[in-house]
Amino acid sequence: MEKTDNYNNSNNGLTFSFADSHGEETRLFSELLNEKDCRDLVLRDLHQGVARCPACEIEVTDTTTLANFWRANRCICKNCKSSFTATTGTFLQGSHLTFAQIVVLRFLYELKNNSINASLIAELLGFSPDTARKWMSTFEDMND
Ligand SMILES: [Zn+2]
Repeated sequence: MEKTDNYNNSNNGLTFSFADSHGEETRLFSELLNEKDCRDLVLRDLHQGVARCPACEIEVTDTTTLANFWRANRCICKNCKSSFTATTGTFLQGSHLTFAQIVVLRFLYELKNNSINASLIAELLGFSPDTARKWMSTFEDMND
């Protein structure tokens, strides 16, 4: 998908516009996702649901530090006094991407590395492969 590509089918009332550098109404695909939900998804996955100080590896248990950790805010370890966030020492340290951008990137990576078929679509979206095939067929017909 090129940056300036548009899929525009006004007859069917569906328009997908991808971001360009000067469009006023275009939005980034990642902006369709909720940043807080994406942050939760990425951080819970990254830490397997357990918050730990990256320096002394003690589990974070106090409510305030836990809340800060899962919000990706700065934390101070009660044990070793180290300062850290939920991304410290991970591949996300120093990244300026939003969590929504990380989720979209990961999603695109999965698509790039897996053949897209009805089963994968059904798994990602939570419906049956038959429903996935029906909708793919609907979109195919719209493109004709
Ligand atoms: Zn510590």
